[in-house]
Parts: sequence; C-alpha cells; structure tokens
Amino acid sequence: MKIFLFFCLGLLIGYLIGRRILRRKRRRNQTVSKDYFIGLNYLLSEQPDKAVDVFIRMLEVDSDTIEMHFALGSLFRRRGETDRAIRIHQNLLTRANLDKILRVEILMELGCDYMAAGVHDRAERLFQEVVEAGKPHRVAALYYLLDIYEREKDWQAALTVAQQLQEQGENVSHRIAQYYCELVEESRQRLSLSEIKNYLDLAVKAAPNSIRSKSLIAKYIDQTDTSEALTSQEGHYQCEHCGYSGKKLTWQCPSCRRWETIKPKNSEN
Ligand SMILES: [Zn+2]
Repeated sequence: MKIFLFFCLGLLIGYLIGRRILRRKRRRNQTVSKDYFIGLNYLLSEQPDKAVDVFIRMLEVDSDTIEMHFALGSLFRRRGETDRAIRIHQNLLTRANLDKILRVEILMELGCDYMAAGVHDRAERLFQEVVEAGKPHRVAALYYLLDIYEREKDWQAALTVAQQLQEQGENVSHRIAQYYCELVEESRQRLSLSEIKNYLDLAVKAAPNSIRSKSLIAKYIDQTDTSEALTSQEGHYQCEHCGYSGKKLTWQCPSCRRWETIKPKNSEN
C-alpha cells in the first residue's frame, strides 16, 4: 500500500512539473488536467477500475501521457492485477498511427502481463512477434520464450530458442545441455542407444561441467549408475542459489528456475 501511495505521489509531482513545462510551450486542453485528478482520486480511494477507465479515456485526449500508462500498467501487473494491466496495454495497442518501436514495447509489456497471468500461449505469440520485429527487444523476448518452453517442458522448442540466443551472442550453453538431458530422460524408451549417446555427447559438448550429463552417461551408456551419490539419505535438498528447500531432487529449481543448483542438504547442519 505504501509503495502504491508513493507511486501516486510520483504521478502527481510528475504531473505538476510537466504542466509547468507544457504551459510555457502551449496552451493545454483543460479536460486533460481534470481527468488526471479524477483518475488520481479513484486510485487513492481504492477504485482502480474507475481509475483505469479515466486514464484510458484520457489517452484519446493527450498522447503525451503514454509513459504514465506504461507505469500504471506495470504497477497493476506487479500487484498481481493482471486483468487491469492487460486492459491498459491492450488499449494502447489500438491507438491509431502507433510508431513501430512503441508498438513493440507495448507487445512486450502485454506479453509480460499474460505471462504473469499464466496464459502462456498468448504470451508466446506476443513474444514471437517481438522477436520477428528485431532489435532492441529481441533478446529479452527470446529469454521469455525460453522460460515458457521450460515451463511447458517443450524441450525441442527450447533448444531452437536457445540456439537463436547463442546466435545473438548470449551464452545459454548450460541450459542447452539440460534440454538434451531432458530429451533423453523423457523419451528414453523410444530412443535407440546411438540416439541417446548422440544427445548426451551434445550435452557434454555444450556444458562439459554438467554433473547431470555425466551421470546420464554413466547410467545409460557405461551402465555404471552413480545416481546414489547424488541422493541425500534424509531426502532434504536445497538450492545453492536461492535457498529453496524440498524433499525431492530436481535438476531445475522450482523457485529460481536455475539448473543444477539443488544439492543434498548436509545432515551435520
Ligand atoms: Zn533456486
């Protein structure tokens, strides 16, 4: 709540400064400032839907307020009010004569809204459109796509996106290794021994230090299972990165989503 009030205060200060500058430049339309205060009032009196209506209406009057709409949209998203964030960003998209860069920025925001709402297929389409548009948001959109495919366990799609990221100069080789390992574990019954070996070789090539690919090679190729060494007797595991603890050994941390950070918890601790 405190953050929200600070945000409103920020809006007000921003408005007052902006008004002084604009006053000098040209005479403003009176309805803008009136709407602005009506909107602020609704926000402060915890009537966000009415506030959203006012701010959306305001945009038709004055396109200078676009930054404020972005701020408002991401504020609602952070508060978990994704419906309102989507309404604000969706409305921005419908504006006529939107320039190309701005359009991509709105698509990006909308993608994040749908991601936060857990609607992955909508988010996926939006991020794909951002990737096609090219710079400057291509890399960020590719990372979102990677996150989506990991969550959906679509390892082939994740590999394709990871490859694109590598081409953009990003280093995601440790994730590529995990995707090959996932492919092996997921379809081990359907794969021939040479296919398994091929995937694991690619995994080792991508990330030579991955414990997982080594343990899979030992298990399926050399037939010397070493997985017991990774198992904690008490069944307590902890993520080295974020501290998440659980009773199951998973290769990807369910909390911070990093790979190979979950280790058996030491019983002496
Ligand atoms: Zn973690």
